[in-house]
Amino acid sequence: MVRTRFAPSPSGYLHIGGVRTALYAWLYAKNQDGKFLIRVEDTDIERSSKESVVSILEGMQWLGLKEDEEIIFQSDRFDIYKERSKELISDGKAYQCDCTQERLNDIRKQQINNGENPHYDGHCRDRAGGIDENHVVRFKSDRSQSVIITDQVFGQVEVGGDELDDFIIMRSNGAPTYHFAVVIDDFDSGITHVIRGDDHLKNSAKHIQLMQSLGYPVPCFVHLPMILGPDGSRLSKRHGAMNVLHYKDEGYSPEAILNYLVRLGWSKGDQEIFSIEEMIDAFNLSSINKASAKFDIEKLLWVNQQHLMSTSNQKLLHMLNEHPELTASVNQDTALNFIEAYKNRANTINDLVVNCNDLFSEPIKYDQSSAEKFLKPNILNPMIDVHESLKEIEWNKESISESLKTVCKKHEIGFGKIGQPIRIAVTGGTQSPSIDQTLILLEQSTVIDRIGAAVDYIKKISN
Ligand code: GLU
Ligand code: ZN
Repeated sequence: MVRTRFAPSPSGYLHIGGVRTALYAWLYAKNQDGKFLIRVEDTDIERSSKESVVSILEGMQWLGLKEDEEIIFQSDRFDIYKERSKELISDGKAYQCDCTQERLNDIRKQQINNGENPHYDGHCRDRAGGIDENHVVRFKSDRSQSVIITDQVFGQVEVGGDELDDFIIMRSNGAPTYHFAVVIDDFDSGITHVIRGDDHLKNSAKHIQLMQSLGYPVPCFVHLPMILGPDGSRLSKRHGAMNVLHYKDEGYSPEAILNYLVRLGWSKGDQEIFSIEEMIDAFNLSSINKASAKFDIEKLLWVNQQHLMSTSNQKLLHMLNEHPELTASVNQDTALNFIEAYKNRANTINDLVVNCNDLFSEPIKYDQSSAEKFLKPNILNPMIDVHESLKEIEWNKESISESLKTVCKKHEIGFGKIGQPIRIAVTGGTQSPSIDQTLILLEQSTVIDRIGAAVDYIKKISN
């Protein structure tokens, strides 16, 4: 039975790179009918915060990356780590060390001078026990041979004995280090596949040494190449929003984010658009790319648009109604017609909210530069006629088109000449579906009032 986990350190928010790691671990568990766990790695008391835990878990929940078992907090397990470190000490596989920082600095300098990799010199290894508990515990590392990491993505990776060290497993304040806690927790949780960022690839050598000393089986390692910014450097805050909840606020859908991220480092032929079910069915470890991928916000927007277009109008209506920024009050049938007319033009649900507010709120606010460009004196007479003729007709698309054509013919102008002025009059801007499609979304009287207001506006600027 496959068991995977996502193990965030709560010292910040859930960022795009973390989401991809979580997604791959989740997808693989789902694909294999296994279990996906979440473990909060909050052993670093100074850097961890409650807000960060809440924000990360909120992100996971929003994305639908749900844990199959109760969330584990490392801060609840300090007794267990202490217990296991004592076992290692009594087995002669770890030892307490009370070397001063000064001494450690000195040996470090010496080793660097000798051209060696800095490492602990083993000074406290064989001293008789009995130093008090407030000292660090070091793991007795075998530096005589290299460790081979077998990784699903990177293949066989050798870490030389000279790169190994008697690293610290327990701090003097009683907290375990990451290396110690991760090994114990992955074992206790029965994790079969350790899926994480490749910044931890080399750490796996330490973990393998620890696992062997503790008598634990070595899980399958899957290290994911990092995500780069558009400029090829490591993705960071300066590349724009990293917090996944930012995308929630911007109106992206969780499915689209996951779809975009699944393709960032994994592929199935040329397929770009996946539903969640398709991702689960298709996901495998063997198609993960070894090369790092670049984050591309334009593509994310495109993927979001593709998902939005294939979302049912009913579901979009529901999303629209739930949206905190929606101020326009509009009846549900009209809203459905609005969605049908506008959904192919929107990239995000927020675009639909903005369009809906623009169209259905009074008074219409003109986009200033568009108004200056199109609501000009030369269009006054045709607009007066549009105003008059729309009063006469039955309110349907065909009649709207007919009467506008008649106005154009009378003034010997192309439809393009009145199209934008009408759009601005009715929506405030120049972006909307076709004129008849746009007007029909509104009540006849509303359209007439708005065209009338535009006529007044043109008269005013003509004086
Ligand atoms: N807490 C570690 C991190 O956020 C997790 C590494 C792992 O998955 O083992 O980098
Ligand atoms: Zn020491």
